Amino acid sequence: MLLNPTCPACRKGPLYQTWLKLAPSCIQCGQSFHKEDVGDGPAFAVIVVVGFLATLLAVFVELAYQPPLWLHALLWVPFTLGASLLLLRVFKTALIYWQYRSGRLE
Ligand SMILES: [Zn+2]
Repeated sequence: MLLNPTCPACRKGPLYQTWLKLAPSCIQCGQSFHKEDVGDGPAFAVIVVVGFLATLLAVFVELAYQPPLWLHALLWVPFTLGASLLLLRVFKTALIYWQYRSGRLE
């Protein structure tokens, strides 16, 4: 469900055309997604959550192991990119479901 979100109306058709691009409408029930307007909400949530997690983990690793800087870069750049791409889809889906339930996707 989280990584393969479906249409909020019928829960059958795929919600996304690509990883972050919505389908124009549901292929099962025809629900249009063109009024979707989550704006920068998912990006803001990702910045807050991933920024907090990456900082917390980097500080913990630094205090516990004192690794060289190149190892920090090797750890936190992929972590930040991966977590951001994953959570962007999760937060975007959550906001689209919320918008649908509040009747603003009609
Ligand atoms: Zn549908």
